[in-house]
Amino acid sequence: MPKRFKTVLHWFRRDLRLTDNTALNAASQEAEQVIPVYIASTWKQKHRWTGPARQQFLCGCLTSLANNLEHAGSRLIVRQGSAESALMALIKETNADAVFTNRDPDPFGKQTETTLTKQCESRNVAFLTFKDTLLHEPDEIATGDGNPYRVYTPFSRNWLSLEKVSPASKRPKLTPPPSKLPSLDLPTLDTWDLPAPAAEPVAPGEKAARKRLEHALKVPLLNYGDARNTPAGQTTSRLSQDLRFGLLSIREIYARTIATAHEARSQNARDGLHTFIKELAWREFYMHILHHFPEVLDLEFNPKYHDLPWQSEGEAFRQWSQGRTGFPIVDAGIRELLATGFMHNRVRMIVSMFLTKDLHIDWRHGEQFFMQHLVDGEIASNNGGWQWSAGTGADAAPYFRIQNPWTQTKRYDPQGQYIKEWVPELADTPPPQFFSPPHETAPIAPDYPLPIVDHAAEREKTLTLFKTHST
Ligand code: FAD
Repeated sequence: MPKRFKTVLHWFRRDLRLTDNTALNAASQEAEQVIPVYIASTWKQKHRWTGPARQQFLCGCLTSLANNLEHAGSRLIVRQGSAESALMALIKETNADAVFTNRDPDPFGKQTETTLTKQCESRNVAFLTFKDTLLHEPDEIATGDGNPYRVYTPFSRNWLSLEKVSPASKRPKLTPPPSKLPSLDLPTLDTWDLPAPAAEPVAPGEKAARKRLEHALKVPLLNYGDARNTPAGQTTSRLSQDLRFGLLSIREIYARTIATAHEARSQNARDGLHTFIKELAWREFYMHILHHFPEVLDLEFNPKYHDLPWQSEGEAFRQWSQGRTGFPIVDAGIRELLATGFMHNRVRMIVSMFLTKDLHIDWRHGEQFFMQHLVDGEIASNNGGWQWSAGTGADAAPYFRIQNPWTQTKRYDPQGQYIKEWVPELADTPPPQFFSPPHETAPIAPDYPLPIVDHAAEREKTLTLFKTHST
C-alpha cells in the first residue's frame, strides 16, 4: 500500500529513544523515508533553567541515540538554532511533506508547536504531534464539572481508573537519510560554552536506562512502600532523568510495573509497586497543574500568598547552596546534588522547606538552583515540589506543617548513614548529634559550621507570616 507521505522529519525532543516512541513509530509507518532530527539550542554559558550536569547527560543521551540510529540503518541529523528556523530550512532542503514530533508538556514547548503548526500550514506541510510523554495528557482528566483538578488525591483516583495504552512491541523500520544532507557534530558542553560539571551523573542513554528499570523492578521497588523515604542506599527507582529525557517510555515503565506486581509473591512487594505507580501520577498531576495554570512559573498557585515578603538571595542562600548551613541533613542533600546531579525526594522536601520556612528565602531562588543542578530537572515537578514545600502550591503542605530537620533526620536517617556519606567532616560524629541542635556553642565536628539559624524561632516567624496573610 502506498504510504501517506514521501519524506518526513522526526523531530526528537524529550523522547531520546527508539523503543516505543509514538511519533517515530507513526512516522515510520506513514512515510517512505524518515529523517531523524535533533536541534540544539543556541544560548551560551548561563541558563536560568539548566546547567552543565544536565547538558552533559543530554550530550551522552544524544550520542547513544545517534549510535542506535546508525545500528538501525539511519543517521541523526543535528542542527542548531531556533526550532522554527532549523526545521523550515530542513523542510526546504529535503522536500519533506510532514514533521512528526511527540508533544511537549511545557509551556515553552507548546508555544513552539503552535508557531510551527502555522508555519508548516503556510507551506502545505503537515505538522503532526503525538501523545507520548504522559499516560494521560492534562485535557484528558477533569473534575465532574469539567474543571482542572487542584488536589492530587481525586486527580490520582481518576488517573488510576483510566485505561492505559500498552507499549508498542515493534521497533520502527528506518532507512538512511540522503548521504549529502549535512549535519553538525553531536553537541558537547562547548556547544553552550559550559565548563565540565562538578557532578557525576548516572550513565546516559536508552540502554543504561533500561538497565536501571530492570534493577528497580528486581530490588528497590519491591520494598518501595517501606523504604522509599530512606535516603541512604537505593530505595527508589532512580528513573527520573530517564523519564525527563524519554530514554524509556512511560507506557513501558507502567506496563512492566503492573506485570511485576502480578507476578510478585508478597503483598508487601505488590503494595510497593502500586505506591510507585501513584508516584508516577504525581508527575502527571504537576504537568496537569502547569498546563492549566502556567502562571505558577511566576506566581504562587494560591493567590492568598502572592505578596508574601520573601527574603532574596544573600549570605544565607550562599551557605545553603554550598551545603554549609550547620544542619547536617540539609547539607548532605545539597552536597549529594552537587556531587551527582540528584537528590533523594525526602531530602528535597527537607532542603526546600528549610530554605523557605527556616531562611524565609523566596522559593523561586531554590527552584532555579535545583533546575540548574538536577539532571532530572523537570519544570512542572520542580515547580510543584517547591510550591508544595513553600506552602503556596496546589495541594501544598499546609503552612503550619513545618518539617523539623532534626526530627526528620532521626526518623529517616537514624544511623546517620546518608549524612556521613555526603558530609565527610561528620564521618566520626555519633548519629544522635544529628537529631537536635548542638547544646554547646562548639561545632559538632572540626570544620563543620554551627547551625546558621534556630529552627524553633524561625518556625514561629513563618507561622506568624503565613497567619497574617491567611486572614
Ligand atoms: P521514585 O520515587 O522512584 O519515583 C518514580 C517517578 O515518579 C520519578 O522518577 C518521578 O518521575 C515521579 N515522581 C516521584 N515523586 C514525585 C513528585 N513528588 N513529584 C513529581 N513526580 C514525582 N522530580 C523530577 O523528576 N524533576 C524535578 O525537577 C523535581 N524537582 C523536585 C523539587 C522538589 C523541591 C521536590 C520536593 C521534589 C521534586 N521532584 C522532582 C520529585 C521527586 O523528588 C523526584 O521525582 C524523585 O526524587 C526522583 O527519584 P526517583 O526517580 O528515584 O523517584
